[in-house]
Amino acid sequence: MPIARNLKIRADEVIARCHRLAAFTETPGGTLRTFLSPPMRDCHHEITQWLNTLGAEVTIDAAGKLRGFYAGERPAAPRLLVGSHLDTVPNAGAYDGIVGVVLAVAVLEALGDRRLPFGIEVIGFSEEEGVRFGTPFLGSRALVGRLDEELLKRADTNGISVRAAIEDFGLDPREIPLARLQPDTLAYLEFHIEQGPVLESLGQPLGVVEAIVGQTRMDLRFVGRANHAGTTPMHLRRDALAAAAEWTVAVERTAQSEPNLVATVGRVEAKPGAANVIAGEARVSLDVRHRSDDVRRRAAEALGRQAEEIAKRRGLSLEGRILLEQNAAAMEPFLVDQIEEAIRETGCEPHRMVSGAGHDAMVLAEKVPSAMIFLRSPGGISHEPAESVLSADVEKALECGLRLLDQLAGSPEFQKRMCRA
Ligand SMILES: [Zn+2]
Repeated sequence: MPIARNLKIRADEVIARCHRLAAFTETPGGTLRTFLSPPMRDCHHEITQWLNTLGAEVTIDAAGKLRGFYAGERPAAPRLLVGSHLDTVPNAGAYDGIVGVVLAVAVLEALGDRRLPFGIEVIGFSEEEGVRFGTPFLGSRALVGRLDEELLKRADTNGISVRAAIEDFGLDPREIPLARLQPDTLAYLEFHIEQGPVLESLGQPLGVVEAIVGQTRMDLRFVGRANHAGTTPMHLRRDALAAAAEWTVAVERTAQSEPNLVATVGRVEAKPGAANVIAGEARVSLDVRHRSDDVRRRAAEALGRQAEEIAKRRGLSLEGRILLEQNAAAMEPFLVDQIEEAIRETGCEPHRMVSGAGHDAMVLAEKVPSAMIFLRSPGGISHEPAESVLSADVEKALECGLRLLDQLAGSPEFQKRMCRA
């Protein structure tokens, strides 16, 4: 099977396009692009032009997702979704999310005039990071039918609701049910930067994601007694911050003792917060992640018990609240195998890995076979302007994408799925 040459030129173009899109920003000098903000319209416009050149039909659905359909060789051919998200965090880099959409377009371009036994829908998700409304995955939730009334009522810091944001953009929230997955959808594929140091440490450009970890997020409050830092002897104190610190170290030790468990106390807030006052209250966050929901839940419970034990021993009270319980999502084994083979065909050693970050693919996986391909993140850096990709890795990703499409087109298993769709 002939893999298009000039992939190096296409890879450089992918990088140039990511930077062009990064210039569509709410904050001059950096990149911030949130759900249905004015720069998102410019971003849609730019990608629409690329897709129109390919003869793809582009629409913006009622949840603000860009959807470009590149038809298959038969009019009634089912579709494969390929994409990622177009929104960013504040002070973002140029690649998180974006490179997955730009790569999807570049793979279609590299097909030349070839059509496949299935159509390809390029999808640019409108909201994955959760920056504007504090809730992630609005675009993919709409796709699986979970953008409900309660979510539509959520407001941003200016008091604008999701519903109003959709209307302000010129879209119709009543059409959200039409933004669901088409019944002929075969699978969802997403290219994304790794956002971590693993592929770099292995010297490999590409990885295949087997599962996306589940997450538990909690908020804990240790309450003791604020008092004078000079006149209160050590044995008569009820220091909430010291308790929180002891527990933070316990969290680290617990995570170190369980393979692949990660647990983080990322925020501490002490009150009243003066140098000469013993902290009467300490609020701390907890984030626990593991690919096994069982391991994660047990770890979160154990950490809660440790917090209680520390509070009790120090004469403090403790309150805890669970903010998020998100189960892990398995990627589909057939697609994972196919991606592994495609990576190997590019001459690289495929690394099977677990994604420690959440992605739209974990929402899509509820309804449709899903899989992800990671590109090495130089320095493991993401969510900041220094985020980068290597041109040679993008070239490998393009080649992997083309080989994967050919494999799927020729796979009896995938053909069976196409007949059923
Ligand atoms: Zn992302």
